[in-house]
Amino acid sequence: MAEVENGRANSRDSGALHPNGAAGCPEPIRQYGDPVLRARARAIRKINAGVRELSERMTDAMYAANGVGLAAPQIGEARRMVVIDVGSGVTTLINPRLVSSEGTAVDTEGCLSVRGLVGEVRRAESVRVRAVGLDGKEFTLEGEGLLARALQHELDHLDGVLFVDRAEAIRDSDDGAGEPEEQAHHPAQGSQ
Ligand SMILES: [Zn+2]
Repeated sequence: MAEVENGRANSRDSGALHPNGAAGCPEPIRQYGDPVLRARARAIRKINAGVRELSERMTDAMYAANGVGLAAPQIGEARRMVVIDVGSGVTTLINPRLVSSEGTAVDTEGCLSVRGLVGEVRRAESVRVRAVGLDGKEFTLEGEGLLARALQHELDHLDGVLFVDRAEAIRDSDDGAGEPEEQAHHPAQGSQ
């Protein structure tokens, strides 16, 4: 993995926005009000170097923001790709689609593109998502709890839907009313 990390850092040197940054130099995450967050993202037809690079950029941006998920529109690319890491490594989902869901659960949610706000969002408790991986093969990801919530949140992003569209009891994230589950590691920041 060290080689991969070095490759990422080197490939970014020439175009770095922040030349003094360490490996990473993640790009800014688009914020509420940016039209790209409201666009319907386009399907990815071919997995090429540009698609693989987009996955790396998204992963870097997600980790830099201490998030558990990120959708391509959040870094300005209206394409159907999501990265997720709820603690067991990153998964890239290309053209993901929800194929089934069960139950309902209400929990506190935030978003890396809606800084400073959280809300209570009702979602399915468990979901099954089909997607294409970076290897071009289709796979199924089943999740419950935080993974299910993150998947639904990120799939919404691909259709221009933000958690504030679905949330109740929207409030400042630092009002002491309780930390969102998704932000357990870094309560001051959004999550997805
Ligand atoms: Zn989000």
